[in-house]
Amino acid sequence: MQSDHINTQEIIQAADECVMCGLCLPHCPTYELAKVESESPRGRIALVRGLYEQHIQPNKNIHTHLDHCLTCLNCESACPANVNYEIIIDAGRALTKTQQSFNKKIQQSILLFILGNLYARKLFNFLARILRFLGIATQLHKSRLLSLLPDKNIPNKNRLEFEKESRKNNDKRVILLNSCAGDLTNDETLAAATYLLSKLDCNVTHPKKINCCGALHQHCGNIQTATTLKNKFISSLQNKKTEYIVPLTTGCGAYVKQFSDKLNGKFIDLNELILRQIEQQNISFKPLAKKVFLHIPCSQKKVMNDDYLTDRLLSFIPDIEIIHFQDENACCGAGGLNTLIYDDIADQLISNKINQIKQHNAAYLVSSNIGCALHFQARFRQENIPVQVCHPVTLLAQQVL
Ligand code: SF4
Ligand code: SF4
Repeated sequence: MQSDHINTQEIIQAADECVMCGLCLPHCPTYELAKVESESPRGRIALVRGLYEQHIQPNKNIHTHLDHCLTCLNCESACPANVNYEIIIDAGRALTKTQQSFNKKIQQSILLFILGNLYARKLFNFLARILRFLGIATQLHKSRLLSLLPDKNIPNKNRLEFEKESRKNNDKRVILLNSCAGDLTNDETLAAATYLLSKLDCNVTHPKKINCCGALHQHCGNIQTATTLKNKFISSLQNKKTEYIVPLTTGCGAYVKQFSDKLNGKFIDLNELILRQIEQQNISFKPLAKKVFLHIPCSQKKVMNDDYLTDRLLSFIPDIEIIHFQDENACCGAGGLNTLIYDDIADQLISNKINQIKQHNAAYLVSSNIGCALHFQARFRQENIPVQVCHPVTLLAQQVL
């Protein structure tokens, strides 16, 4: 059994590294929910090995168990044998994607098409804004997909204000890459990051013709499309005259980091660049006497080697009260497209965090991952929880003097 762009021996060898110790099981959110082996990392690795060794044939059940995985990679962090779980799960999904139910296949194909096509994203956003303008936002929020779209500007400063105030004449060139989902939902973060980096002596551009990096396609098992997108992404950036290439959100960042050597050492995480610049500049922030829940996305832990970097960034704002989740290392359930395709699982996984938020009078929830931020936002809307969701950079841009 072969799948395009996948080396069968490499997958079997990677799966063979698993010594079946089970130390990863308590760290796996889907195992914690279902308590069955096939919803655990160890079970999924065994399934993929069986598929690639042709001891078992793909079927709908196997596909579903592999598809439920959030690709949070908590299992990789816990694994004493350093199993490369990510390539195993991507390969497993590639081999079983023909078993996807018709409904899920349609849902996933539409989502990937919209995310992978600039004009489709623009059209979708335009239609959603018209529907909102016509005053049917409440009905829109009943749809999971449309409930993820923002209907508010960033607090206190709107996007245009940020863009107008961004200086363009600084020396340090930075290419800021909005994620594909960000085109739909994250314009405000792009404007805020541009404004803040401009204050920090960076000359920021966001070229329109940069391809999707292919992260979501890869994790959905569309390996061939993902490889094509990745190669186009690399070649669209390779000759750009810039000091830094900075993905706006950690979902893309975690994926791009894996092939960042192809970007001539210019890749850097947004929060890391901002911290570096703040430490070199004489810049200060207005006080913000508010409680702020800090969500550290699973992808962020993979991009940065410093779990406390966002804390350090937000601590530049005087009077801010940062609150951490008790279950900080637990995935919120948004991984990949799961917040849309397996919303029942995603909703269960976020519930504990929502309960913690309800116990505090927090004004903000900050997250560096667009998928996680949207997942929180959708739940806040459902339950009328008056907490503003934003990227940490948005808060810094709002408070910078
Ligand atoms: S990536 Fe996350 S959800 Fe998937 S098996 Fe590992 S711990 Fe479980
Ligand atoms: S993936 Fe790692 S931690 Fe999990 S069972 Fe295999 S060897 Fe053990």
